[in-house]
Amino acid sequence: MLSIKDLKVQYGGIQALRGVSLEVDEGEIITLIGANGAGKSTLVNSVMGIVPKSSGSVTYKGTDITKKDTRQIVKSGIILAPEGRHIFPGFTVRDNLMMGGYFGKADANDRELETVFNLFPILKERINQMGGTLSGGEQQMLAVGRALMAKPKIMMLDEPSLGLAPLVIADIFKLFDRIREMGVTIILIEQNARMALKVADRGYVIESGRIVYEDTAQNLLRSDAVVKAYLG
Ligand code: ATP
Repeated sequence: MLSIKDLKVQYGGIQALRGVSLEVDEGEIITLIGANGAGKSTLVNSVMGIVPKSSGSVTYKGTDITKKDTRQIVKSGIILAPEGRHIFPGFTVRDNLMMGGYFGKADANDRELETVFNLFPILKERINQMGGTLSGGEQQMLAVGRALMAKPKIMMLDEPSLGLAPLVIADIFKLFDRIREMGVTIILIEQNARMALKVADRGYVIESGRIVYEDTAQNLLRSDAVVKAYLG
């Protein structure tokens, strides 16, 4: 469904991605794990067209999207829930969600809103509350909900667990299976490798801009090298 080939990204003199290749099948949950600065955010940001690619290609459902802009990429069905959530603190929960549905028609947005509320009932309870007054976990749910409003086929999540308590993370992660059942393929970036590998089918480990391991999540959870470096 998504095929990334030999992707390189450079920020000035810094080579952040040194030729990353990755394949994602429809309906998979894959995770990309790695230390701070390994290049995880750079990878998803470059797929989205937010960060320019130096070379390599990205193909989505057989179409080359390497040179498409972010708006076209979102329209084609790929969305990113970015690191740090980036919700609008001065807008209500409803308006934050509606901004995610910006590309659709009004009645389609209402249907999506119901879908998001089914997934995250707490957001319905907080519908008129300002985004900035939500708890961290609720803000993360809002960020995921807003991403789903665009009716994506692929949702990339950049460190959704950041700054959240383990129980709150578990609450959010257990919904990934339901989101997958809605027809959304998931690419999950995480420093929290153990939790990510528990919900994922397959995983990629990135170090200094290169994929160093890729395997089923179960095998990565058992791999001595991965356990030693990432699972403590
Ligand atoms: P983290 O988990 O800390 O977010 P990451 O794996 O997502 O890390 P990236 O944010 O992709 O890593 O960063 C990869 C490398 O690129 C790092 O060395 C970082 O300092 C560098 N980098 C990222 N963004 C920029 C930028 N806008 N300008 C210059 N260098 C950057």
